[in-house]
Amino acid sequence: MSRARVLVMNSALGPLDYRVPHGMHVEPGSVVVAPLGPRQLLGIVWEPDRMPSDAEVGDNRLRNLLAVLPVPPLATPLRRLIEWTANYYLAAPAAVARMALASTSALEGAKLVTEYRATGEMPDRLTPQREQALERIGAHQGLIRELATIADVSDAVIRGLVKTGAIEPVSVDIDQPFPLPDPSHGAPALSADQRAASATLVADVEASRFQPTLLDGVTGSGKTEVYFEAVVAAIAQGKQTLVLLPEIALTEPFLKRFAARFGCAPVAWHSGLRQSQRRRAWRQIADGQALVTVGARSALFLPYANLGLIIVDEAHETSFKQEEGVHYHARDVAVMRGKFEACPVILASATPAIETRQQVAVGRYAEVKLPGRWGAAEMPSIAPIDLIAEPPERGRWIAPRLVKAIDETLGRREQALLFLNRRGYAPLTLCRTCGHRFQCPNCTAWMVEHRLVRRLACHHCGHTEPVPRVCPECSTEDTLVPVGPGVERIADEVKLLFPEAKVAVVTSDTIWSPAKAAEFVGRMEAHDIDLIVGTQLITKGYHFPNLTLVGVIDADLGLEGGDLRASERTFQQIMQVAGRAGRGAKPGHVYLQTHSPNAAVMRALITGDAESFYAAETESRREAGAPPFGRFAAIVVSSEDQNAAQDAAKAIGRAAPRIDAMEVYGPAPAPLAMLRGRHRFRLLVHAKRALDVQDVIREWLGGVEWSAKVRVVVDVDPYSFL
Ligand code: ADP
Ligand code: ZN
Repeated sequence: MSRARVLVMNSALGPLDYRVPHGMHVEPGSVVVAPLGPRQLLGIVWEPDRMPSDAEVGDNRLRNLLAVLPVPPLATPLRRLIEWTANYYLAAPAAVARMALASTSALEGAKLVTEYRATGEMPDRLTPQREQALERIGAHQGLIRELATIADVSDAVIRGLVKTGAIEPVSVDIDQPFPLPDPSHGAPALSADQRAASATLVADVEASRFQPTLLDGVTGSGKTEVYFEAVVAAIAQGKQTLVLLPEIALTEPFLKRFAARFGCAPVAWHSGLRQSQRRRAWRQIADGQALVTVGARSALFLPYANLGLIIVDEAHETSFKQEEGVHYHARDVAVMRGKFEACPVILASATPAIETRQQVAVGRYAEVKLPGRWGAAEMPSIAPIDLIAEPPERGRWIAPRLVKAIDETLGRREQALLFLNRRGYAPLTLCRTCGHRFQCPNCTAWMVEHRLVRRLACHHCGHTEPVPRVCPECSTEDTLVPVGPGVERIADEVKLLFPEAKVAVVTSDTIWSPAKAAEFVGRMEAHDIDLIVGTQLITKGYHFPNLTLVGVIDADLGLEGGDLRASERTFQQIMQVAGRAGRGAKPGHVYLQTHSPNAAVMRALITGDAESFYAAETESRREAGAPPFGRFAAIVVSSEDQNAAQDAAKAIGRAAPRIDAMEVYGPAPAPLAMLRGRHRFRLLVHAKRALDVQDVIREWLGGVEWSAKVRVVVDVDPYSFL
């Protein structure tokens, strides 16, 4: 090949053609360095017929490729996945491909680096800083900068310690292989149900065929143990497994669990990795050596050499939907990856999404069920507390019956969990004198008081400010009042009621890294925590056998706002959090505080009749032509200049094609009318399933022009309607 089409890593550009200089070998998937003007860009060689260029350049005007990087070419299934994702989500192929090349360092090929570690020798002069450094570094090994960060000292302190010999350089091959999982390490004795379920999954792995399967089992039924058997089958074939989790906070408990079963941790992939860990993981994944990878959504686009199995755990979780950059849904892309790789995909959930259930109903996905909890554990009892009939005391949020249940639980030396999906102390702060409400300067949102750090914070853009002592509007002192509860306020109430209890607040503010999650799990297991007050972060994955009581502070909360999935999401979230109760030998009890105990979703939760609830929800979606029976796509137009955004939104609205199979609503100001200083307008496209809505939108938007100040984002299959 003397000419190559290259997908360059610049989302604004289409594919470009280059000359392949004499002696250089490239093939589709090769990662190359290409010149562009005075710059050099990374690129991927592509089949010309799959990536048409609208600016064909004559041979004599081609520039030479500069280099081929020493990594395996991206394999055909991954290239097909990149194309599919870009096409389906109306994203630039380069933006998708960049997720595959997620470690720049790895692309440079094998190399040795110098890391540093403590020798155990003490320096002659032990300053307090040096002492702190050596104490915190302990057994850590890393670059100077990394050690300095761990030790919270300057680089110079570490360099000084190197000079004294207390810290020594070591040459490390970054591409050291990972330990291999050992299938026989901690093999459990499966129950008959579990054996049957795993046999089906194992057969699919052994057949090396594309087969999506819903692993539908109640919380605590042993879904993990069951899909681990499929992992065993993949390992036996020497093939790689990818396990996707919805939150990075869940990685840590998963690593422990995996290590207990397989004797070593799997390869973790998430945003918290050090550069060297990232590089090593990427290279070993691309090499096929890393057999099991666990990660958040971004692990989906890595260049697995030999993928034999994909598992999406807690597959109903909406956090699999990426809401920035490429707006893809990792669950759906995982299924497509399985299709291109010809491998099975397991979607594990106790509360499957209606979309997934529908795929089962029409026969596209198989289903494997685990009807009961494993061992002696029973499903917890779920009882409503009608907040109108049994209200909490004035100024309190926990109703007397729940207070009593907490009292009894703690009295039995068992653990309790109070769930409220609201970070901070109070969702709204206002001035008692003049009624002034604190609003984010950048967003259409109230500032949320975080009492632990004594600041007001916007949960949309991250803007924070100190809590003022004086109202900025009327200048009265000490007049601010919190309105409504957040987890911190509930924690205060618990401490007031049970001064002896050890209370932990679990939110993304307190558990922001895998290490923090590990610490929390350790404290729960050591019974260093009696009661957790937590947000959705605590609802899934965790297994605490001594946790027997769950109180849902405001079961109605998720129904507010009322988008298409509000009831479904409420059902899933409460089932999940209820599923934390009574997972061991002791029975679990769940109380739902609600203003509407007769709402369909509350009745379904209380009676445990998920089937009729799902049937009714599914029917109403069908009638409305809503997903999965029809399609939505949102077009979000934003700009710092409100008029520019509005004009562009109107122009897009006017240009909307009139097609029978599609309706366009809007433009209208978005519910979040301002976000991070940008004014936002939305259009909602509602289409029949049969319509190729992506093609229609591509052509439609291609014919409209808007000012450079305006950004237009298309969100196919949106989950957020804000
Ligand atoms: P799920 O993911 O369905 O909520 P888990 O896989 O977390 O359930 O299982 C719940 C608990 O039961 C875990 O502690 C798990 O180790 C244990 N368990 C499940 N099946 C078995 C088994 N066959 N042998 C031993 N322990 C099991
Ligand atoms: Zn904001």
